[in-house]
Amino acid sequence: MLGFVRTRQEISFVIYLMLPTLGIGCSGGGPAGELGLVIVVGLVALAVLVVIIETAKAKGRSPRVPSGRLNNKRGKHLDQMLKERKGDHLTEEQRKTIEENIGLYHWLPEKLIAPWEERTLVFLDFFPFTDMKAGPVTKEMRLLVAAEACLLIVKRPMSDYRHLQRIHLWEDEIEGMENARGTATRHEVNLSWAHLKKTIDKARDGHNLTLHEFAHVIDFADDGIAQSIPVSRHSTDYEEWRVMIGEEHQRLMKIYESGKNYSIRAYGGYESIKGDKPELFSCATSAFFERGVRLKRECPRVYEALSKFYAVDPANWRKKKTE
Ligand SMILES: [Zn+2]
Repeated sequence: MLGFVRTRQEISFVIYLMLPTLGIGCSGGGPAGELGLVIVVGLVALAVLVVIIETAKAKGRSPRVPSGRLNNKRGKHLDQMLKERKGDHLTEEQRKTIEENIGLYHWLPEKLIAPWEERTLVFLDFFPFTDMKAGPVTKEMRLLVAAEACLLIVKRPMSDYRHLQRIHLWEDEIEGMENARGTATRHEVNLSWAHLKKTIDKARDGHNLTLHEFAHVIDFADDGIAQSIPVSRHSTDYEEWRVMIGEEHQRLMKIYESGKNYSIRAYGGYESIKGDKPELFSCATSAFFERGVRLKRECPRVYEALSKFYAVDPANWRKKKTE
């Protein structure tokens, strides 16, 4: 900030010193006067440009800096694959598997089914699953993980998963992480199948292992850090997210310390890595999709930010009637 003020003052001072000299040239008329005028106009334009750039830097934003998404080859490829899958559907058998297993399927508005299926197909084509100890991951397992992961991006680009490289499913415990039911980095997701099965059919308990772990992947994608701010530093929404996460984190901790029940799990408040708050976004994501009405009532600001980010409105989803 100080560097910015100094720079702007220096520019103004240089122009101020040069003006009398150039002014003589201007008032003298003829070629020298025109030259002086051109120099003054040029200097003013340059100064304005420098001030604009410095102001933008001081606000933490650079003008016209691309988000990086479009420069990412893998992301472009994923988005292209999605275009090519436009209008494709899951098979009847795949739909039946989803219907019988994924609780949220019964709440998803009809208009979201087509984009959801298109994304699920791309996911299945693109992302590898490693074998479990007992043998290969089944078609059903792959489909259910893909479908839940794509629920998060049903209105977002496929390139949200541009850094994801593979998914590991474990029968029960994750090797080397005995207490974890799932883990995620920018590149990999580990899921305990035994635990996933326990949460996948419950659409309204606010706990969903797959949504939780893939929300971390999305949070990592923009900058390699999971700090519960899923938008890049260049986004105009960044500052709003940063302030909101800081305040909501404090609020969440206080509410749990007071013994109250809350729509976002306590884990979202207490777990932090090196001062970052990675769990707030992922726990809030589960709450957003599975307890939208309650989250909207208790934390309208969080609900609104997530609704803008995911471009869906789960508080208004209604359960479909089954025959
Ligand atoms: Zn987590």
